Amino acid sequence: MELIISNLTKTYPNGVRALNNISLTIPQGMFGLLGPNGAGKSTLMRTIATLQDADLGTITLDGIDVLKDKQSIRERLGYLPQDFGLYPRINAETMLDHIAQMKGIGNKSERKSLVEALLHRVNLYKDRKKALGTFSGGMRQRFGIAQALVGNPSLIIVDEPTAGLDPSERNRFYNLLSEIGENTIVILSTHIVEDVNTLCSQMAIICMGEVLMQGKPKDGLAMVQGKIYQKTINKTELNQYRQEYHVISTKLIAGKLSLRVESEEHPGNGFEPALADLEDVYFSFISQKVDPITI
Ligand code: ADP
Repeated sequence: MELIISNLTKTYPNGVRALNNISLTIPQGMFGLLGPNGAGKSTLMRTIATLQDADLGTITLDGIDVLKDKQSIRERLGYLPQDFGLYPRINAETMLDHIAQMKGIGNKSERKSLVEALLHRVNLYKDRKKALGTFSGGMRQRFGIAQALVGNPSLIIVDEPTAGLDPSERNRFYNLLSEIGENTIVILSTHIVEDVNTLCSQMAIICMGEVLMQGKPKDGLAMVQGKIYQKTINKTELNQYRQEYHVISTKLIAGKLSLRVESEEHPGNGFEPALADLEDVYFSFISQKVDPITI
């Protein structure tokens, strides 16, 4: 199973080119789509989910033309959008039953056992009678996954799913996603590097509507390993360092700035070699396009 995106381009009526000739090959498993806010991730997700059209380019899922044969993709798709409305007074069980009915599962007892199985799967069975409006952020997201799983999709899209979750909720959500990723294509769109690091076997970095990198996270790491150096400086020195070095990221630690730079050679001047991580890969690529201070 494979999702192939070729030369996808989209310009909004206001002139913003959200996708600029995007090509990606997405195999079975968890695929992380990483990019800063405004990179074009949601536009790409909505286009794959057949919710909006592109100007140019094609998307195929196992030979099915996603942009033309929308109905057959919708039957194979589970989508967890960034913001999804929940009917606050309806309980989880009733809502899932309703969604299953809308997705064409007419048989009542079949629906009942499906809804039960899904509620167990996302660990919401004991909360099934609670109104959705009372759910925490993590419960909402797990409910979102349950509704996306109705109909046994072969392609699942989750858009910025961990934003706003606390660490334990995030962990629970990670476990759930990685289970699902074992036998479907799961596209995880996020600006949180840790999400991709934890979950994804394949990834892409996009920025300003363009693909800057695609491959395995470890391939990305190999590109920057041995080239990352770190130094702690005073905040007031930042501009000067920016002029002299390729600063890829800065972090404020106890009032001082920890600076990471990318360099083919040891930059000297008190810099220490650092072990590269996926954040360095991300910032290395993103800093080619946008000023790191704005990341
Ligand atoms: P991301 O999901 O990575 O944050 P988006 O796909 O939401 O990125 O946005 C990409 C770019 O397209 C941004 O500059 C955004 O402002 C713009 N954009 C998104 N949706 C619309 C729209 N409906 N009309 C006009 N511009 C839009």
